[in-house]
Amino acid sequence: MKRTITHLADGRELIYFDRRDDADRGAVDRRELGPRPVASELRYDPLTEEWVAIAGHRQTRTFQPTGTAAECPLCPSSGDRLTEIPASDYDVVVFENRFPSFSGNFATYEDVGGLSAVRPGAGRCEVVCFTPDHDSSFSRLSDDGVELVMEAWADRTAELSGIEGVEQVFCFENRGSEIGITLAHPHGQIYAYPYVTPRTRLQLGAAARHQGPGNLFADVLAAERAAGTRVVAANEHWTAFVPAAARWPFEVHVYPHRQVPDLPALTEAERAAFAPLYTSVLRAFDGLFGVVMPYISAWHQAPVREGRELAYLHLELFSVRRAPGKLKYLAGSESAMGAFVNDVLPEEAARMLRSQLDH
Ligand SMILES: [Zn+2]
Repeated sequence: MKRTITHLADGRELIYFDRRDDADRGAVDRRELGPRPVASELRYDPLTEEWVAIAGHRQTRTFQPTGTAAECPLCPSSGDRLTEIPASDYDVVVFENRFPSFSGNFATYEDVGGLSAVRPGAGRCEVVCFTPDHDSSFSRLSDDGVELVMEAWADRTAELSGIEGVEQVFCFENRGSEIGITLAHPHGQIYAYPYVTPRTRLQLGAAARHQGPGNLFADVLAAERAAGTRVVAANEHWTAFVPAAARWPFEVHVYPHRQVPDLPALTEAERAAFAPLYTSVLRAFDGLFGVVMPYISAWHQAPVREGRELAYLHLELFSVRRAPGKLKYLAGSESAMGAFVNDVLPEEAARMLRSQLDH
């Protein structure tokens, strides 16, 4: 793998991850770009003890009305059609988001009154293009294509963890217009937050209170493997299962069999084993109703400093689609109270997904 760091016309970093050591990465960004927006501001909600990023500038972010390759900013540049990626081809590429929720480019923020503390949204947001092929998807990446993405995720996790003030690095993919994704090109994002996120804080709190026999996450994994009814797929290094208390109609958690804090801690063998298992689960998602499944795929990694010995790297994948033409909306109970109601029995979801696995 070859890593090449370059810069876009407005100074943002762009990093190529190439399979070949002789890839030429000299292409220059010939666009004229305006100044970079300042970071959002963080406001603290004293009622929930959570930070909220207020990012007014994101209202103007790129929207792609047609979703075609002809105007896609994530396709390679070709001729006069200049995109975010100056090169005419790439394997995997990562660049700083043009309209980030968190960045190092911050102004000072004034006291807004009320009980809310305010501070700049320090951190970083990056975009990861999984493939140059506009019409592909993560589920159709080759195993070595997935491994290259994993190398990029691990590289970025290590790098972004070193930025002053960053407390957690989150690699994720939003897929489908139902999720609100504005670009069709297969891509994901990486957020480097200046705080530990609420969900991670909850999980680590539960892990700290857990009364053995082992680590909470390890015990959940062992119990799911023993029960078996919700296991969707497994191999030597990973198990994918529907959690017993799934919140979403189709939700799968993917755990490595060894407790590691984050993606950089995976061995080469573990990375290699993840690729075929995960893409087969994604294809099973698409097979459920014969339509493209919108999903959110979220890597849960240990925070940079806190709770690393309790954390257990895993991926949480879920879809908002519960049936053909039917979406699960976060309505009153979920949105207002955080109290989920799931219409699909987790054991039935696991059975349906198993029946769609490649034979
Ligand atoms: Zn594209």
